[in-house]
Amino acid sequence: MALEPSNSDLPSHGLYINGAWRDAEGERTFTVTEPATGAALARVASASRADVDQAVAAARAAFDHGPWPHTPYYERAKILQQLAKLLEERAPELAELESRDGGVPLRATTFNDIPLGLHMLHTFGELARRSPYEPLPWTDFPTLAWSFVWRQPYGVCAQIIPWNFAFCMAIWKLGPALATGNTVIFKPSSLAPLTSIALVKMIDESGLLPRGVVNLVTGPGGETGEYLVSHPNVDKVAFTGSTEVGRKIMSIAAPHLKKVTLELGGKSPSILLPDADLDKAVDGALFGMFYHAGQLCEAGTRCFVPASLYDEVIERMVARTRQFRVGDPLDLATDIGPLISFKQRDSVERYIQLGRAEGAQLALGGARPSGPLYDQGSYLEPTIFTHVNNTSRLAQEEIFGPVFAVIRYDDIGEAITLANDSRYGLAGSIWSQDYQLALEVARRLRTGTVWINDHHVLNPYAPFGGFKESGTGREMGVAGLLEYTQATHIHVDFQQNRAGKLWWDALLPPVDDEG
Ligand code: NAP
Ligand code: MG
Repeated sequence: MALEPSNSDLPSHGLYINGAWRDAEGERTFTVTEPATGAALARVASASRADVDQAVAAARAAFDHGPWPHTPYYERAKILQQLAKLLEERAPELAELESRDGGVPLRATTFNDIPLGLHMLHTFGELARRSPYEPLPWTDFPTLAWSFVWRQPYGVCAQIIPWNFAFCMAIWKLGPALATGNTVIFKPSSLAPLTSIALVKMIDESGLLPRGVVNLVTGPGGETGEYLVSHPNVDKVAFTGSTEVGRKIMSIAAPHLKKVTLELGGKSPSILLPDADLDKAVDGALFGMFYHAGQLCEAGTRCFVPASLYDEVIERMVARTRQFRVGDPLDLATDIGPLISFKQRDSVERYIQLGRAEGAQLALGGARPSGPLYDQGSYLEPTIFTHVNNTSRLAQEEIFGPVFAVIRYDDIGEAITLANDSRYGLAGSIWSQDYQLALEVARRLRTGTVWINDHHVLNPYAPFGGFKESGTGREMGVAGLLEYTQATHIHVDFQQNRAGKLWWDALLPPVDDEG
């Protein structure tokens, strides 16, 4: 990403503020590139503080004076589902764009990522039909009353997403916020903003939402993003990204006591129990690790293997990983594409050096693939380290690339202790044929999601989020929707007689003629 004046025939995208597309102040733009080739893909507006001010003002006005927060929940549900239907027609286009922009293999975007995003949007529409009234028990203390909780939209929401899994990230930010009647200023990552921009264009073209309900600002996180988060007229911040930036956002939001939900990094365990079906467990653990070249927050990057099976599992993993085809993301035969950027690859390669220095054994990979196909892109071979010590940096830090740490354990208690010995707590998977045992282990993992005999399966009905430094709050499911609401308790008094009121006994002077 580089800031430069807009002067070429590349597709160019503006900011979307108050229902209209426009250039950023001073026509500032940055260039978005294709990780596979380094080629420029588009020019995107880079929002200044003044632009962010306008986007926040539009969202504020749409919330404070517009119809959206008061649109009945079943109408909002209908709109979200209409939108999901319109997007479905554009799924192939979105899949290709996501592959070009993020370097994600077209097989993944076509068969999982885009359909999953659309399924999520449908589900949020369905969840939006949930009544915002929550009845409470009748009470007669101190007097007869009927009470209920009324869920209001939270307000103006700043939403920031990372570059990985970008389309789904955009849907799982916008969907729940809109379902519950909020207005939004949304900022995608500068490294892969294009499917987010396409999504906002489709929202705009649909004409389904009132002006100012969704606003899009693009630009560097440290400037555009940070200013957005600090804005006094933003009520809630929903952020997905690194733990480091999440920590900063929480402190920036503190002076205004904004509500903050954070979906952050991970170092999720994948535990093979001694009775696991190795054909499935090995493939599944590799899927958990290498999907999106390891650039997924809930990737199972630490694999715990019983000592009795260790050599066999390593042998199987290495053999299977050798079969992965690293290559052009647009080729449907490709299993693993490039990393998002050269900078990201440099960072991952530093961890590979570190792993060697820490004494882990490199069983496979560790280098850049060679050949003309790979010269222009940020490619890296899938890499497996064995005999990794769980206290090493290789096992403790989020690498966000295709580097697997395989760790040996002697008994299941030790596996649980090691799995939980992490500053993160996003997800984990357990591989076993003994469901009772697997459930016992699942209940002892300090993570927001546990899969038994699977990994990466995101269920929009289920809450998703992290323990410890993996975040705070939940997204998706009813829990995720509730994060976008504030509860108002409404108390309806049924004590008709003035003398029976609490205030009669507690404060007011008696009146003679009361019965
Ligand atoms: P990042 O560097 O933290 O950036 C995430 C987003 O925040 C981007 O839009 C970025 O903008 C913006 N940003 C950067 N600095 C900011 C600041 N000071 N104030 C406000 N916004 C700022 O993370 P990333 O490298 O894009 O994404 C990878 C990370 O996301 C990994 O740690 C991964 O685990 C995490 N992740 C978590 C989940 C989850 O659900 N828990 C899901 C996916 C990813 P620019 O890119 O434009 O600079
Ligand atoms: Mg890109």
